Amino acid sequence: MDYLPAENRYSSMRYNRVGSSGIRLPAISLGLWHNFGDVDVFQNGRNIARRAFDLGITHFDLANNYGPSPGSAEETFGALMRKDFHPWRDEMIISSKAGYLMWPGPYGEWGSRKYLVASCDQSLARMGLKYVDIFYSHRFDPETPLEETMGALDYIVRSGRALYAGISSYSAEQTARAAKLLRELGTPCLIHQPKYNMFDRWIEGGLTDTLEKEKIGCIVFSPLAQGLLTNKYLNGIPEESRAAKHTSLSPDSITHDKVDKVKKLNEIAKARRQSLAQMAVAWTLRNKVITSSLIGASKVAHVEEAVAALNNLTFSAGEQQAIEAALK
Ligand code: NDP
Repeated sequence: MDYLPAENRYSSMRYNRVGSSGIRLPAISLGLWHNFGDVDVFQNGRNIARRAFDLGITHFDLANNYGPSPGSAEETFGALMRKDFHPWRDEMIISSKAGYLMWPGPYGEWGSRKYLVASCDQSLARMGLKYVDIFYSHRFDPETPLEETMGALDYIVRSGRALYAGISSYSAEQTARAAKLLRELGTPCLIHQPKYNMFDRWIEGGLTDTLEKEKIGCIVFSPLAQGLLTNKYLNGIPEESRAAKHTSLSPDSITHDKVDKVKKLNEIAKARRQSLAQMAVAWTLRNKVITSSLIGASKVAHVEEAVAALNNLTFSAGEQQAIEAALK
């Protein structure tokens, strides 16, 4: 064991209450969707995770399929737990999910009880954990009764595999139904995980109202639009970037129109004495329904930059107008 977390790790991070629950999450959380697979450099991911924890990031988000290869991000995280973090398990909130394709055949994706329970067991084995803190239904399944999917989440919690239940990317209407079912089962929905950033504002069309009404927390993923809302793509597509790897961020989505908007936003950020990445993170947190902004990082510096966004979270009316105008 050669890792000792920074003693001052709780001195500057903000911790926001998750809905009406007893849990608080850091305003910035770290996701392991990219950069922690078996194709990536282990020591780089290890440095990122250590630095995150040192800066007060207590929440690490995973899913069964993160890698590549699928499952390997959880294996990497399991190695990090064994090597670095196991003495601090009680200071961490670790989440996983099931919903997307994980294994062949009819039971390897979507929302059946069969799939969710088996997948949760696989995730626990890969991470070497007795339980995860939050287990999510990763996507709504239009063909499985919601009663079955929510019943599976309730069972996963009651059987000790997870402490809390969550849902991801459910619409406002699906969320209201899921919240009611979980409440009736006695396992309230802790949190919703939707995509939210300056380029994708779908949650403003009803979901945030539902979450507020249902007193459910909200952790938003891809606050930087996978790196687009940083200064990375201002002058083309750098070799080491996510877009260059042709994985989840298509180079075709980085249009002239988008880059023009990013340039305008970059000027607004500069006037706020923030980087664009910092302004993008701060912007997601301006709504009090948002509990945490769930970032990804390919470098330690990305985590440091995001956490420093917390030094300026307020937006003047003029700044808000300028951002709206830039996004038009
Ligand atoms: P972000 O929008 O924060 O994008 C992160 C990427 O942006 C980094 O990997 C890096 O990519 C680039 N980047 C980060 N900081 C900077 C910076 N300061 N300057 C330049 N580039 C930067 O989030 P993700 O899309 O990675 O998603 C975050 C997490 O959300 C995931 O890990 C996962 O846990 C969760 N998620 C959940 C989903 C769901 O369905 N529930 C779906 C997707 C994500 P690069 O490689 O180019 O350096």
